[in-house]
Amino acid sequence: MALDITWTKAWIARSADVISEHRTDLTTLDRAIGDGDHGENMDRGFSAVATKLADLSADATPGDALKMVATTLISTVGGASGPLFGTAYLKAAGAVAGHEELDGADLVAMLTAARDGIVLRGKAEPGDKTMIDAWTPAVEAAATALAAGKDEVAILVAAAEAAEAGSAATDPLVARKGRASYLGERAIGHRDPGSVSSALLLRAAVDATTD
Ligand code: ADP
Ligand code: MG
Ligand code: MG
Repeated sequence: MALDITWTKAWIARSADVISEHRTDLTTLDRAIGDGDHGENMDRGFSAVATKLADLSADATPGDALKMVATTLISTVGGASGPLFGTAYLKAAGAVAGHEELDGADLVAMLTAARDGIVLRGKAEPGDKTMIDAWTPAVEAAATALAAGKDEVAILVAAAEAAEAGSAATDPLVARKGRASYLGERAIGHRDPGSVSSALLLRAAVDATTD
C-alpha cells in the first residue's frame, strides 16, 4: 500500500480506535504513578481528531492530516501529554509537508521530527521514564531499517516493535520528568503511560497499511 493520504487517514482513524479501546488501561497506568487521567486525556483528543477527519479537503496531503491532529490535540487534550503529542504531530507534519506519498526516508524524517519536537518541548532524555523512551528507540530502529534497505512497512514495523520494547523497559526506571518524578523510587515497577500510548499510535501506523 502507498503511504498516501488514504493511509494517513486510516492511521489516524485507527489511532482514535486504539486509544479508545485502551482508555481504561492508560488511565490505570497513570493512576499508579500520575494523576489517573492519561486515558481520558488521550481519548478526548483523539475522539475530536476522529470527528475532524471527514472535514479534510479532497486534496489534503499526509502533512495536512498530521497538522490537523496536532492542532486538535493541542486544543483538546490538556495535561502534559497534549502539548507534547501536539508538538510531535506538528513537527511530523512539517517534515513531510507537501509530499503526496511517503517513502522510507520520509518516514524516518517524520518520526525523527516528532521525537525531536517532544524533546524540545519536554526536555526529557532517554531513561527519564517518559514517552521519549518509546520514541527514541522507534526512531533509531526506523533509521536502521531504512539504512538496511527495508521497505516502508518494514520501517513502520521496526518502529512499532522498538517503541513497544522501549515502553516495557520503562518499568524498572525512576522517573525524572512529569508527575511520576515526584514519586522517586515508588515509580519503580510501573510502566510509563505516555510510552504505552506512543507505542499504540506507532502500532496503529503499521495496522493501517492493511486497511
Ligand atoms: P498529566 O501528567 O499532565 O496528567 P498525562 O497523564 O496525559 O498528563 O500524560 C502523562 C505522560 O506524559 C507521562 O506518562 C509521560 O510519558 C509524558 N510526559 C510527562 N512529562 C514529560 C516530559 N517532560 N517529556 C516527555 N514526556 C513527558
Ligand atoms: Mg495524568
Ligand atoms: Mg493530568
